[in-house]
Amino acid sequence: MTDVGFIGLGTMGGPMAMNVLKKGHRLTVFDVSPKAVARLTAAGARSADSPRAVAAASDVVITMLPDAPDVERVALGADGIAAGIRPGAIYIDMSTVDPDTTQNVARTIAAKGAHMIDSPVGKTAEHAVSGTLTLMVGGPQDIVARARPVLDCMGTDFIHCGALGMGHAMKIVNNLLATTLLEINSEVLAAGIKAGLTLDTMTAVMQKTMAWNNQLAVAMPARPFAGDFAPGFMLKLAHKDCRLALTMIRKLGLAAPVGEATLAACADGIAQGAGENDVGVLLKLREERAGVTVRKTKP
Ligand code: NAD
Repeated sequence: MTDVGFIGLGTMGGPMAMNVLKKGHRLTVFDVSPKAVARLTAAGARSADSPRAVAAASDVVITMLPDAPDVERVALGADGIAAGIRPGAIYIDMSTVDPDTTQNVARTIAAKGAHMIDSPVGKTAEHAVSGTLTLMVGGPQDIVARARPVLDCMGTDFIHCGALGMGHAMKIVNNLLATTLLEINSEVLAAGIKAGLTLDTMTAVMQKTMAWNNQLAVAMPARPFAGDFAPGFMLKLAHKDCRLALTMIRKLGLAAPVGEATLAACADGIAQGAGENDVGVLLKLREERAGVTVRKTKP
């Protein structure tokens, strides 16, 4: 049994923390939302009044927060994790942020005699509930091995991506690609229907060609093709991930013009008020422009 601290108990962090608790670890939690905290304390977790107090009570501290500034605030603020972390403890950031943020926070954590690794997650809120997330882990082998029993409470696919920050580098390039596939699929399918094709014809052909991808095979039939645009994974978070990936790419002195177009498509959707819809709403936005719908009943 490990003393685990969990900060950020939202769509993903709430069920992830619940799974840590269910596997028999002692859990201390904090969130700015009292409702989110109450769900965990009702299940047996203790609550603390700051990230600092969570860290002071824990051998492994986890954050699952929306964006990089949130992680910096919670980790490095006056009442933050670094102010309370125990020497030898491990801080795992599971939020989707960028490698620069992780490496910056880790320097302060190391100065306190503690360790940091990154482990952003892939898949969906349903997988957070079932404890079957994909974990993309960055950090030194020995610290990752020590954190593994806690990580295994939340995920079943474990991929050690390399040094500290490489979990985050992996996650943001992955999400830039996934969002780009969703956007180009939406553009092409709406245009095909407008031209006179059917969705069944297009998917039957695409399955046999290099156009096929997991958005077409799995994600779009599950939600947007059924007209379901409730989150899930919000468009505003997809926009954030594309922004983080493109910032990293630009810092590397590289260009990603197709990725930039995806970022613009997400920003456009947010400007139209769709930011809190599932990212699959990119299809709806293309449908509206084309004056068609791309629908299929759920398989
Ligand atoms: P969410 O907005 O549902 O949850 C974030 C939680 O953090 C909320 O409960 C909020 O109150 C809390 N919070 C925010 N600022 C805080 C602070 N300063 N101190 C304490 N608590 C604070 O977001 P989510 O969907 O759970 O996503 C979390 C992270 O996981 C994001 O980086 C997201 O990109 C990533 N992610 C999400 C999904 C998904 O399907 N939703 C999938 C994979 C990865």
